[in-house]
Amino acid sequence: MTASRLLVIDDDVDVCEFVSRVARDANHEVASTTHFSEFKRLYRKFNPTIVIMDLAMPDTDGVELLRFLRAEKSKTEVILISGMDKKVLNSAKRVGQEHGLNMKGVLQKPIMIEDLESLLAAPSYFAGSVTVHELDAAIAKGELVVHYQPKMNLRSPVDDSPREVEALVRWQHPVHGLLSPDRFLFAIQETGLLLPLTRAVVTSACRQIRKWSEFGKTMCVAVNIAPQLLTNLTLPDEIASLAEQNDVKTSQIIIEITESGVMEDTARAMDILTRFRLKGFRLSLDDFGTGFSSLIHLYRLPFVEIKIDQSFVRDVGANEEARVIVRATTEMAHRLNLSVCAEGVESEDDLNFLRLAGCDKAQGYFISRPIAGEKIVDFAFGGASHAEPLRERA
Ligand code: C2E
Ligand code: MG
Ligand code: MG
Repeated sequence: MTASRLLVIDDDVDVCEFVSRVARDANHEVASTTHFSEFKRLYRKFNPTIVIMDLAMPDTDGVELLRFLRAEKSKTEVILISGMDKKVLNSAKRVGQEHGLNMKGVLQKPIMIEDLESLLAAPSYFAGSVTVHELDAAIAKGELVVHYQPKMNLRSPVDDSPREVEALVRWQHPVHGLLSPDRFLFAIQETGLLLPLTRAVVTSACRQIRKWSEFGKTMCVAVNIAPQLLTNLTLPDEIASLAEQNDVKTSQIIIEITESGVMEDTARAMDILTRFRLKGFRLSLDDFGTGFSSLIHLYRLPFVEIKIDQSFVRDVGANEEARVIVRATTEMAHRLNLSVCAEGVESEDDLNFLRLAGCDKAQGYFISRPIAGEKIVDFAFGGASHAEPLRERA
């Protein structure tokens, strides 16, 4: 049986041949081309389940190819290859994700046969194969579970404001195990199930807040609201009534929105976000620095916090520009009366830098991975040793 249909595009015939050979050996049906025009034709005719593409081609570039796939509303998995450094590859991968594409991975040239084989063997993302019925059933059966990642307070001395965590959804899949959101959120968006998912996550978060309060802990939970939902004018009412039903104060829920979401329809988004604020929720601008009109959002919209995107935080150890961006963003945010949380803190050095830069909070694997609600205890906030960060069950 053929595993899948794979389409390769690279201007280097040798690379096409190499990838095709490895893929055929792994039981994939393969087509390849060295030209964009031929790629477009093949894409429509061959209907690939995986596309492997070179980022730099004489007649096009990878970003244009990604734009083409987006225009086709492609659900195919995409693997990027390039002789350029990993940073370029990762930023192209991000472009693909921003386009809502199903980015499977990146390979740096010269391609190692083992890397290609293991990427091809990696379990397939579900975007193309999961049905509305399966996702609906997963939500109904409670297979979507919520893990919580603590935000560590970096202010010194630590004040006694409530502890904060971010709710991150996972799918406890009966066959594939615990799946992270990038494996199924795309399909959720495609199938119009974002609102039921959000309701399920908010309900779990509220119940968890109640459980923590039974143990004498007042906690606040940040929930991620997908940009597509920022057109739904009744969203603030819905979330507020879920909080009320579960006896949770709206001030205990932080609404995290990414910049890209705010941009789509600013007037409508402003209406919705302002009403969230009026109802007592706090608003946080997620992945700050990755969108295109950040300052205008900060100026116009009632956010109380920004989360500096992990792409900057990850680089503070090695890159002066990243340090400049983090310091300047923090200072600007403070002048606008916003608090600052740094995401993706993976080392003690990063944490020390962020503290010195004046960030108010930090979140990242160094402090704790996202973990089940009952495992959230004081030391998950970094009060105790950092020697062994809590591990998320893979
Ligand atoms: P996000 O809201 O920016 O969440 C942070 C992501 O970074 C999480 O990935 C978290 O596990 C990961 N992370 C945290 N610390 C580190 C670190 O030190 N290093 C690295 N490499 N990663 C770190 P996760 O859980 O896979 O979620 C990915 C994205 O999926 C989230 O990004 C959010 O945009 C979305 N998401 C998660 N849960 C929900 C949800 O309930 N609803 C919606 N609409 N989106 C969700
Ligand atoms: Mg978030
Ligand atoms: Mg983020």
